[in-house]
Amino acid sequence: MITVPVTDYDSWRAAAIQLLAAGKSPNEIVWQAGLFADLPESGPTTGLTVPRAFIELAKVVALHRDVSRWFVLYRVLYRIVNGERDLLKIDIDDDVRELRLMEKAVSRDMHKMKAFVRFRRIPDSEPEVFVAWYRPDHYITEAVAPWFSRRFGSMRWSILTPDRSAHWDLETLSFGPGVPRSEAPGDDVLEDLWRDYYRSIFNPARVKIKAMRAEMPVRHWATLPETRVIPDLLAQADTRVVQMAKTQKMSALPFIPATRNLGELRAAAPGCRGCDLYERATQIVFGEGPKDAKVVMVGEQPGDEEDVKGHPFIGPAGRLLSKAMHETGLEREKIYVTNAVKHFKWIERGKRRIHAKPSGIEISACRPWLEAELASIEPELVVCLGATAAQSLMGRDFRITTERGKFFPHRWAKELVATIHPSAILRAQDRVEEEYGLFLKDLRIIAARLRELEKAS
Ligand code: SF4
Repeated sequence: MITVPVTDYDSWRAAAIQLLAAGKSPNEIVWQAGLFADLPESGPTTGLTVPRAFIELAKVVALHRDVSRWFVLYRVLYRIVNGERDLLKIDIDDDVRELRLMEKAVSRDMHKMKAFVRFRRIPDSEPEVFVAWYRPDHYITEAVAPWFSRRFGSMRWSILTPDRSAHWDLETLSFGPGVPRSEAPGDDVLEDLWRDYYRSIFNPARVKIKAMRAEMPVRHWATLPETRVIPDLLAQADTRVVQMAKTQKMSALPFIPATRNLGELRAAAPGCRGCDLYERATQIVFGEGPKDAKVVMVGEQPGDEEDVKGHPFIGPAGRLLSKAMHETGLEREKIYVTNAVKHFKWIERGKRRIHAKPSGIEISACRPWLEAELASIEPELVVCLGATAAQSLMGRDFRITTERGKFFPHRWAKELVATIHPSAILRAQDRVEEEYGLFLKDLRIIAARLRELEKAS
């Protein structure tokens, strides 16, 4: 038996390469957390290649807390390099299944950490510092920390966990040892803010206790300030449903499932009755594009052609947008396109259906769909095409004329920028070329900014 110390993916990988070269089978090895290796003399390692999919899988599985992960990883690696090259494609294989389950558990844990970390301000800290304590199931702190540095890049913060701590000073992400719960800060004013926020977004019409417990496991409740108001809110649920029906007649919110899965959102969208626009439209036109798009472009509402065919930006304005994207190096197939309002609003003129501007109430009724799309995709950049989209996401005071082409930090993306809607170019009559030139200029700036953001992430 060989005892092999292992602490993380890199140390496992280095040892595994040596053990494979020495021809050691999985049953000859005991993987153990420790400092001193007892590795055999290795043979030549040249020609040892493994599929990229295995490397990606191993990096995630390495974050799992079960110590058997190192053993299973090595056994799968051993089988791959000894003739079973396509092993990962056999989902029913016991080893592959075990790795897949671990991968799923780690991914789910990362998702939960993003949802349940709550920062508290350190009292009297100057400059302000925020701290959160969280207990993940697996060793995910270092893997998830970059996400927090992007989302909360303008705050100085630390996330403390029993295993590791992560620190962000507005420029650099650093890591340190774990911290027990007793050393984390307790209640303060931010907790009240969280509770108020939760009260305001709590929708009694969508309460599913079982799903709530699954999504928000009880063991996290101690670190979640909003959980203290849940019993009260549930007790008042019936009254609140009636109140909501009276005061929130126009909202898509009750029709949106509690999920970040874009496919599930799209599947639920045709059932929306959040405002009256569905009544005269042919169908809902939901956003389209990759679910991990770096850029989301938001227009106003579908046009006549989009309404008939059920796809966004395929009419004259959409075609102009595609042309402009092509000329400025933005690849449309990599961009998610959607609208602030998902049903076509129109008036009849002769035999034609003419676009009618959606009202503020309709825009705000439909905003939850747009927010659900953005929360699911988590883009780097949101590009608002026209005032309706910009005002839906930046507030009614936002003016395209003065703010066009400027980049703003935003809740749903690293940055948001607005330009005109391509339909405004088509309506510009004798200034079409001039307006199109300005639009191209905006898109070139956006393409350049996107390259910078991608480089920085
Ligand atoms: S426009 Fe939006 S809120 Fe109104 S019915 Fe359609 S999807 Fe729902």
